Amino acid sequence: MTRSHALFVKLRKRTWIRGSTLRTPRSWLLVYIKTVALAASGPDHTFYPLLTSSVSVAIIGAGPAGLMAAQVLSEAGLQVDLFDAMPSVGRKFLLAGRGGLNLTHSEAYDSFVSRFGARQSNIEPWLREFDAEAVRSWAHGLGVETFVGTSGRVFPKEMKAAPLLRSWLQRLRHPGPGGVPVRFHMRHRLVGWAPAAQGESGGIFSFQTPAGEQRVQTSIAILALGGASWPRLGSDGAWVPWFCANGVGVAPLTPANSGFDVATTAARETEKTSSEGTAADEAGWSAYFRERFAGQPLKSVAITVRGDDQTSVFERRGEFVVTETGVEGSLIYAASSLLRGALADKGVATLYLDLLPSHTYAQVLSAVQAPRDGQSLANHLRRRLRLEGVKTALLNELLPRESMRDHELLARAIKSLPIVLAVPRPIEEAISTAGGVRFESLDEFLQISHAPGVFCAGEMLDWEAPTGGYLLTACMASGVRAARGVLRLGTTPA
Ligand SMILES: Cc1cc2nc3c(=O)[nH]c(=O)nc-3n(C[C@H](O)[C@H](O)[C@H](O)COP(=O)(O)OP(=O)(O)OC[C@H]3O[C@@H](n4cnc5c(N)ncnc54)[C@H](O)[C@@H]3O)c2cc1C
Repeated sequence: MTRSHALFVKLRKRTWIRGSTLRTPRSWLLVYIKTVALAASGPDHTFYPLLTSSVSVAIIGAGPAGLMAAQVLSEAGLQVDLFDAMPSVGRKFLLAGRGGLNLTHSEAYDSFVSRFGARQSNIEPWLREFDAEAVRSWAHGLGVETFVGTSGRVFPKEMKAAPLLRSWLQRLRHPGPGGVPVRFHMRHRLVGWAPAAQGESGGIFSFQTPAGEQRVQTSIAILALGGASWPRLGSDGAWVPWFCANGVGVAPLTPANSGFDVATTAARETEKTSSEGTAADEAGWSAYFRERFAGQPLKSVAITVRGDDQTSVFERRGEFVVTETGVEGSLIYAASSLLRGALADKGVATLYLDLLPSHTYAQVLSAVQAPRDGQSLANHLRRRLRLEGVKTALLNELLPRESMRDHELLARAIKSLPIVLAVPRPIEEAISTAGGVRFESLDEFLQISHAPGVFCAGEMLDWEAPTGGYLLTACMASGVRAARGVLRLGTTPA
């Protein structure tokens, strides 16, 4: 028996291909022809052909949130059909592996949950069921050891995502006793969703596939379609209009954990002289600074963001990077929600950079005032304060020449150099997305309140968190939460 014939026989036995399409010999022939074509296009575990069909549980989106929901449900004995637009699963997860795959954080639970800011109360119930420790045990269960880095962040020992993802897929395809293997349907791009009629659950989900449009009817669906950052990895936010059309509240998707463009020198001057601040239409460093310093890190610095009354609302030490047009990196990401808010409200946002956080202002001033003995200012700052390279260049870039010559103004700038930001970088470049399906549209198990049987999970929900492993942890925890919501409905095992 050929592989395609075996697949056809297998498909005919499956109850999940049903409906009028299969009642005549001609329609069976059509299925057969499509089966042969599709069997040729890939191994059968990644490509099940579907006509208008019915599945018991559909999970759409095979990122960490969807995969985790699939694991919980398949281990509970449910037949899960997992759909994704891309040819393979977990592409953003794999990209996260390039930075070492920061899976979670080892800090105390109270600090951990506080990272979700205004959404803490929404997310805490998920984390009570699946917290940082659970993430580590899950990885260990898949044969991947983890370790705590100096910053408290948790990584796989190998600092890679691929081995963990491989082992995860193996588990989904071959769950233990009582589990049901997950069926994967790759290259299935969801293009529409018609909720079920009143009194019924689930709906009909339309997919674009290499074999044309396919429609899948299900009474249970978990949508884990991600946000809109890095769209070439699969998550492009195209679901927003259908959700809105189906009456689901969606907060606009905006970049989170993103870099910013700095305002031009002219805009910075205007901002300095105007008490109200002005929108900066243009952005970027001077050509001189950009050509020499783009890509360079600013290490062991601190930033402060001030509120309207000029008191500090954010202060942290860390590092970031100078880009072609502005700034990015972990320290900037940590403040990005505040900075984005200020830009949206006032059209301008300023962060204050402390180039020497372990020195007091008095120490800096005394070093600046010390006799120069004929040295240039750059040499003087390097000898007395170890201030050099991109740090000194940034002072030159941002301070008027007169301030560089004034000891007090220079010392003050070294401790608190204002960097005026013009715009966040586009969402396509952001690490994650803020905005998404509003919690007001969901019940406590992430089921859409007016669409029974349809759940949402992961980054497509309206929350955000800084980098540090909080994103992956919450995405997986939301997958667990939605899956438990499905189990509470008492869905019959396969
Ligand atoms: C460069 C980078 C590094 C990162 N590093 C880390 C890190 O170290 N630690 C951390 O905690 N977080 C990190 N993140 C964030 C983390 O990867 C995401 O928060 C997480 O992957 C989101 O999981 P998700 O399952 O909700 O969505 P996604 O991972 O985006 O998965 C959604 C899936 O849905 C599919 N999909 C979307 N639309 C459709 C459609 N219409 N039809 C069918 N399928 C669709 C997509 O193809 C995708 O496979 C990083 C992100 C980036 C970009």
